[in-house]
Amino acid sequence: LPTGQSIDEARAEGERAFALDRAHVFHSWSAQEQITPMTILAAEGSYVWDGSGTRLLDFSSQLVNTNIGHQHPTVVAAVQAQAAKLCTIAPQYVNDARSEAARLIAERTPGDLNKVFFTNGGADAVEHAVRMARLHTGRYKVLSRYRSYHGGTDTAINLTGDPRRWPNDRGNSGIVHFNGPFLYRSQFHSADEAQETERALAHLDQLVAMEGPSTIAAIILESVPGTAGIMVPPPGYMAGVREICDRHGIVFIADEVMAGFGRTGKWFAIDHFDVVPDLITFAKGVNSGYVPLGGVAINAEIAATFANRAYPGGLTYSGHPLATAAAVATINAMEEEKIVENAARIGNEILGPGLRELAQRHPSIGDVRGLGVFWAIELVTDRQTREPLAPYGASSPAMNEVIAACKSAGLLPFANFNRIHAVPPCTVTDAEVREGLAILDTALSVADAHTAH
Ligand code: PLP
Repeated sequence: LPTGQSIDEARAEGERAFALDRAHVFHSWSAQEQITPMTILAAEGSYVWDGSGTRLLDFSSQLVNTNIGHQHPTVVAAVQAQAAKLCTIAPQYVNDARSEAARLIAERTPGDLNKVFFTNGGADAVEHAVRMARLHTGRYKVLSRYRSYHGGTDTAINLTGDPRRWPNDRGNSGIVHFNGPFLYRSQFHSADEAQETERALAHLDQLVAMEGPSTIAAIILESVPGTAGIMVPPPGYMAGVREICDRHGIVFIADEVMAGFGRTGKWFAIDHFDVVPDLITFAKGVNSGYVPLGGVAINAEIAATFANRAYPGGLTYSGHPLATAAAVATINAMEEEKIVENAARIGNEILGPGLRELAQRHPSIGDVRGLGVFWAIELVTDRQTREPLAPYGASSPAMNEVIAACKSAGLLPFANFNRIHAVPPCTVTDAEVREGLAILDTALSVADAHTAH
């Protein structure tokens, strides 16, 4: 194994870890007695090794965070060096790793988003972005998409449009959901992208008018929605949202927690649309999750609100030295090794065309969409009716069979409802993508068996 351990030694360690996990670890989003979590013994680059020592291609990037791949040597070394130098320091003190990470992030965000507030991950970045927007505008309501995920904490899960909100819904949270553009399952009965843009914007415009523009603090949108299905907004949509926000003094928050830091083939997904939001939330890819880190990039106008007025919020570990040292090393490595460019090229030349080619041969593929190393295939039982292979908000035996077929052939996919996401690290090689596509090709015959034709 890449850890230097023998497989037998690692397996024994893994078995003990599994027993302790089952006895003591309480898992996220799960019925505790109904899960059999996979043990990971080691990871390197685009691969992980499971509890039996079998190598799997990581087409999930874990939770779509290891943009730089597993165990990138310069990032590991930077964390080790920082640990030897200074492990922790409270946020009120200046720290070189934090300062440098803030500079590198500010230099890459669009427009005048030049201040960075650091958090521990994505959900708390969203909490703070919303708090900043509410304090800045003096308004309370926030609008977000139904097909979205914004995190597991209180405001973030209530902003979340997808079914993970349902058991957590507070009802009176001041959050109003709307339908964004999604041509394949259009809520607006649109015939093409131009119509979908026009109608989705008219819907949002109407919602703002009915809710009362003077009550709305912010509109939050994933620049490209991730776990909700990788629906790339059609041309003109994001610019239209910007225009609605400008017209009414509403703060535009772009949630880049999953789509940011190279995943779409640009530093930020919003860069595809030539739009400058007021706040950007980020996490995951900022340091590939080697140490938990997230944050909010803040524009000059909102930052000025707190120039002579205290910002009422903070976290013990805001800008933690180990996390920000990992961010500095990650961003520098991405620049030096042209990793963002690699993600763009892989998407254009291999992963996108490869998935589209699979769709020609597999009747179970209803739709293929994405960009960079951020792709989803939507599986259906019938291409005409677009009946999903698993219902909205649930898994299904058929989907579980497809996922099991991927794993047994050596591929770790990211799956959600009726979708398989192909979201490898931004560092993935051409040969690795081809290997992943070949495994998907085999596994999809399992899905084809459930189709009507
Ligand atoms: N926002 C988006 C777009 C996400 O995809 C996620 C996580 O998947 C979050 C926020 C929450 O991030 P975290 O799980 O780090 O709290």
